[in-house]
Amino acid sequence: MKDSPDEATDVVVIGSGIGGLTAAIILLKLGCRVTVVEKNPLPGGLMRSYIRRGIACPVGVHYVGSLGSGQPLRRMFDYLGVSSKISLEHMGANGIIDRYIFNDFTFELPEGMDRFEENLRLAFPQDQEQITLIMKNLRDIAGQMDRLEALLSPDRDFFLNETFFAPLGDLLRKWNCSPGLYSLLGMTCSWIGIPMEECPVYYHHMALASYLFSSWRCHGTEMAEAYVSRTEELGGIIIAGDPVEKVLVHAKTAAGVALKSGRHIRASTVIGAIHPKTLLPLLPAGAVRPAYIDRILQLQDTHGVFCAHFSVNAEDHKAVPHNIFKVETDETGGVADVVFYQIRVSEQPGLNLFSMITSIEPEDWRLWENTRTGNRGRDYVEAKEKKAAALLRGAAKIFGPFKNVKFLDAYTHLTLRDWVNTPGGSAYGVLRSTRQLTRTALLNRTSIQGLHLAGQSVLAPGVFGTTLGSFHTVRHIIGPDRFGKEVLLS
Ligand SMILES: Cc1cc2nc3c(=O)[nH]c(=O)nc-3n(C[C@H](O)[C@H](O)[C@H](O)COP(=O)(O)OP(=O)(O)OC[C@H]3O[C@@H](n4cnc5c(N)ncnc54)[C@H](O)[C@@H]3O)c2cc1C
Repeated sequence: MKDSPDEATDVVVIGSGIGGLTAAIILLKLGCRVTVVEKNPLPGGLMRSYIRRGIACPVGVHYVGSLGSGQPLRRMFDYLGVSSKISLEHMGANGIIDRYIFNDFTFELPEGMDRFEENLRLAFPQDQEQITLIMKNLRDIAGQMDRLEALLSPDRDFFLNETFFAPLGDLLRKWNCSPGLYSLLGMTCSWIGIPMEECPVYYHHMALASYLFSSWRCHGTEMAEAYVSRTEELGGIIIAGDPVEKVLVHAKTAAGVALKSGRHIRASTVIGAIHPKTLLPLLPAGAVRPAYIDRILQLQDTHGVFCAHFSVNAEDHKAVPHNIFKVETDETGGVADVVFYQIRVSEQPGLNLFSMITSIEPEDWRLWENTRTGNRGRDYVEAKEKKAAALLRGAAKIFGPFKNVKFLDAYTHLTLRDWVNTPGGSAYGVLRSTRQLTRTALLNRTSIQGLHLAGQSVLAPGVFGTTLGSFHTVRHIIGPDRFGKEVLLS
């Protein structure tokens, strides 16, 4: 198809994950014409579940923090107009959000800062002074989060606070924390895929605080549908099943995108809501400086994950209203391995969904690295089933023997790589480690006028981090003054 006036818009967003659709909705609300282009047949990216034997298997949204009335993510959801479209299950009704099972103790993460402090003090009586120091920082960061505007534009004091930018592991060792407390706090680092020795304190505290505010589960494909329908209600256009193959650039200025089908969508603002390494090959040769290309290519990414879904008999294996993590630690308290478990009610009467997620050993899957999803052959399917069965045997030590259990599906980092184009199958995009602090700063900007980035790699991953990142990107596009006047997050 040839370029035509009908194919012109104000903003093109590449990618319809939560990052892309959030940016699209904000800009639509500000009066822009927006077209979102998605490579997959259905929009939603990692928000979208997939169905096996009539059961929705989640991919990238297992639980979300800070969605209580007036809390920071809820305020962003309210602004976007998606809150009422998503039915949420409030976790922690039994007092627990997460149960962490370590080799020698179990810790229950409650909702609320004060209850968390109480549980910490009871579990680690030898660490009272350390807990005081940790809670002070955690409350400071939670306060920043509560004042969303401050989080979008932190003041000088934030950047001058060296403690916030230190690696959490170093700080806890300097404060002589016990190995138990060290491993417990390390759990949050594994949620966001950063080794504790390299995880900036503020980053850890933001993730932890977001779940302590309140934690929620959502159902099936509701979240993806909510974002899609909201985008369309506001007049946004979503083109699915047609990958962007080129970003059009004229005289160092973004001019639109060219799709695989041959369609050209012209726009003076293009937002790549995809991994920066995925955006690079879409740019014309010479459009950005070699130094920028090197900076992006050298970025280290978070690791991939292995996920397995089973259906279990609901009578024998009741739904558990909190998450369970089995954590292997080393002798110093470092988190060596984690398996995440969730048992939830499914769409099929009498059946619950049992999901497990753990880290991946890329070496185990090297054989299939050069193959594409759907084309990997029987050996790969068997390797996945074998790994899923091993995880199930491990789970039986916690949940007891499984009865009437049926394998639904398993996926590896290779699936994620092919499905949403994340480099190497990275689960949470760019690794925001202390070592990469400078290289990962201001990732939403490029030297091409009108070309911006959004998505989990620009600021932070997860529903919270990616959403905040898109607000940041729009703030950069329209300028802080207009943003302050027109994007009201109170
Ligand atoms: C297994 C797993 C579990 C997770 N669990 C949680 C959780 O419980 N809670 C939480 O808060 N976060 C969780 N996360 C993280 C969270 O899902 C992500 O941070 C977030 O969804 C990322 O959104 P995004 O928009 O940046 O990326 P994506 O959702 O990946 O969106 C990018 C989109 O761009 C599309 N695309 C790529 N290339 C092109 C192209 N050339 N043309 C057009 N379209 C293109 C992709 O198909 C995709 O739809 C999890 C992630 C994983 C992998």
